[in-house]
Amino acid sequence: MIKPKKLLFATAGIPSSTANPSTIEGINRVKELGFGAMEMEFVHSVNVSKELAPKIKQLVKVQGEWGVVLTCHASYFINLNAIEPQKRGASRGRITQAVKILDACGGYSCCFHPAFYLGMEPKKVYSTVKGQMKKLFNELDRFNPDVWVRPETTGKATQFGSIEELVELSSEFDKVLPVVDFSHLHSRSKGKFNSKKEFQYVLELMEKKLGKEAIKNMHIHLSGIEYSDKGERKHLLFKESDMNYKGVLETLKEFNAKGVLVCESPDSETDAKLLKKYYDKL
Ligand SMILES: [Zn+2]
Repeated sequence: MIKPKKLLFATAGIPSSTANPSTIEGINRVKELGFGAMEMEFVHSVNVSKELAPKIKQLVKVQGEWGVVLTCHASYFINLNAIEPQKRGASRGRITQAVKILDACGGYSCCFHPAFYLGMEPKKVYSTVKGQMKKLFNELDRFNPDVWVRPETTGKATQFGSIEELVELSSEFDKVLPVVDFSHLHSRSKGKFNSKKEFQYVLELMEKKLGKEAIKNMHIHLSGIEYSDKGERKHLLFKESDMNYKGVLETLKEFNAKGVLVCESPDSETDAKLLKKYYDKL
C-alpha cells in the first residue's frame, strides 16, 4: 500500500480552476497547484469507468514515485446498520464498488460514512457494523485490494462514528483505519473538539490503540462547519466558521502526522491553499 512520505494536501474533487474538468485534468491541475493529493468524489455515483482507471493509474505513478496520491469518498447512501438485509448488502456493494475503482486507479484510501444508530444502543450498532465489515472483507478479499478502507468520523450524534468507536473498529481489521474528520468531531459534539488539547487526545488515542504507524498513515477531512443542537448543518469556508484549523494543523505537525488531508470546504481549492500555506510555515 502507498505510504505518503509527508502530510499531503488535497482538494475534495477536481480543483475548481481546472480548465476542462475531468478526473485526468483534475489530477494534472492538482500537480500544477502544488498539492500532493486529490479526493475523487463518488458520493452520488462512481464516475470513473473501468476503462479509464488504468489510464489514471499510469498518470499518478511517475517514475516509481507517486506523483499524486488519490483517495475517494464512497456513496452517501450507506448504512451498515440498516434494518433490511438487502439495504445492508447494497451498502456493502457501494463500498466495494468504490474500493475496486480506487484500487484500479492506483489509489490510497477510500472513506465512507458507516451507519446510523436509528435509535439503537451504540454497542449493539457497533457489533452490527463490525459484522457487516467482516462480510465486506469476505467479499473484498476475493480481489485483495491494495487500498485502505476507512469509516469516517460523522457529523451528527445520530450517526455511528465517534472517534472512540472507529478506533476500536479499526483495531479489529488489518486494512481499516479511521478517516478523522476534525470538523465532524466538532459538530457532532456541538462545539467541543476545537482545542489543541482535544486534537491531541484524538492522535494520542490512535497512537495508543492502533500504534504509531497509524499517525504516519492518516486520511483527514477538514473544513469550516455550521452546526446546531443536532450536529452538522453544512460545511463553510474557514473564514466564516469557528473551526480552529490552525490548532488542527499545529497538532498534526507536532505529532509529525503523515498521509492525506482533504479540504472539504465549499471552496476546496482556495481553502486547501490556506491550509497548506499555514502548515508549510510551521
Ligand atoms: Zn464524508
